[in-house]
Amino acid sequence: MRLLVVEDDPDLNRQICAALTDAGYAVDRAFDGEEGHYLGENEPYDAIVLDLGLPKMDGISVLETWRRSGKMMPVLILTARDRWSDKVQGFDVGADDYVAKPFHMEEVLARIRALLRRASGHATSELTCGSVRLDTRSGRVSVDGNPIRLTSHEYRLLAYLMHHSGRVVSRTELVEHLYDQDFDRDSNTIEVFVGRLRKKLGIDVIQTVRGLGYRLNPPADAH
Ligand code: CA
Repeated sequence: MRLLVVEDDPDLNRQICAALTDAGYAVDRAFDGEEGHYLGENEPYDAIVLDLGLPKMDGISVLETWRRSGKMMPVLILTARDRWSDKVQGFDVGADDYVAKPFHMEEVLARIRALLRRASGHATSELTCGSVRLDTRSGRVSVDGNPIRLTSHEYRLLAYLMHHSGRVVSRTELVEHLYDQDFDRDSNTIEVFVGRLRKKLGIDVIQTVRGLGYRLNPPADAH
């Protein structure tokens, strides 16, 4: 899952990005409204954290412009504690949730998890697909109850496929959602990670759909 953080306070921006990266997300950052708007308009983010008080273009205008051009990604806005009108205005222009400053990072992480799972139609933070279980809170993965250790890139790949299980996901889509914009992207590495995941999870968990991409096999009773 790939996220964007738009926050002009450099310390806060760094803290949020670090926490999200630690939680297993690919994270891009922007420090003003124009840059944030441009990235959100042109990159396929799974969710965005958007401060409202931003230089060059305020957060409300950024969000309004994204929504007007049909961008549907979930957006969590950061508001000042006592500015109830910001929240109302934020929701009215298309925010999905908010956190008031100052906040605990755990709350931002929990709200992002909730936005991501709702966007992909999941009701709980624990995702299962056949014998594979992925807990998006702890980042733990197990197969038939046995814990499996994954590298951060393997985890990102599996988490993305689990959020979209049953659907064919192309290699291009995976590259766009697993790496931040500074990463040297190479779609061949996806094949390598899929190979490693198959070794760890069982060969039949990730299906290759020739010419199209990959699909996480839904459990047999879902057919
Ligand atoms: Ca600000």
